[in-house]
Amino acid sequence: MEINELELSKAKLEIIKYGKKLGEKNMSPATSGNISVRFENNILITASGTCLYDLEENEIVLIDENSKVIDGNKKASSEKNLHNAIYKMRPDINAIVHCHSPYVSAFAVCHKSLSKPIISENVFYFGEIPVAKYALPGSEKLVENTARFFAKHNAVLLANHGIVIGAKDLKNAYFLMETAETCAQIYLNSLILGGIKELSKKDVEELYTLRG
Ligand code: 13P
Ligand code: ZN
Repeated sequence: MEINELELSKAKLEIIKYGKKLGEKNMSPATSGNISVRFENNILITASGTCLYDLEENEIVLIDENSKVIDGNKKASSEKNLHNAIYKMRPDINAIVHCHSPYVSAFAVCHKSLSKPIISENVFYFGEIPVAKYALPGSEKLVENTARFFAKHNAVLLANHGIVIGAKDLKNAYFLMETAETCAQIYLNSLILGGIKELSKKDVEELYTLRG
């Protein structure tokens, strides 16, 4: 297989850029989380145990549809099969971000979906963010419990773990990650304040019409 090294390097630099942004916003503490993008017919994914804030080009590897490393000399992320399963289901998704960001993960710990229509922006971008049943990180069971939600959703909470988000490109996956984390923070703060006023069904339907 011939690899376009220039394009490969460009794609890796984009992963490094958004990994840094996730780290700066405390959305990927220590070595938690992983990022991938489609690269031609394969997937470029962060290596296992890497710090997203501080990635180097050699910490991003190319894997095939069976999650086998075909370029690079590090082990691919332990969540490689989850990323692969989502790409197989959703041809429109070209980038995936998985994070253990603190606010979103608090909802994942409580098995509370981010589905109440309380913030217009979140209704517009996500509709609902359901919770997938807990399974061991990196396991086939986690893939089984989680990937199926991508039939209807672009973001899924992983019980007692974090979140996984897919989008048409990495910039949008990053924006959705920021949006979900901010929503979780606002939601939590509004629970403390008390007196949440949910949007009506009509408000929600109106927001959906803005999606075009
Ligand atoms: P990796 O470092 O293997 O990608 O694992 C991080 C993670 O968040 C596992 O769920
Ligand atoms: Zn994880």
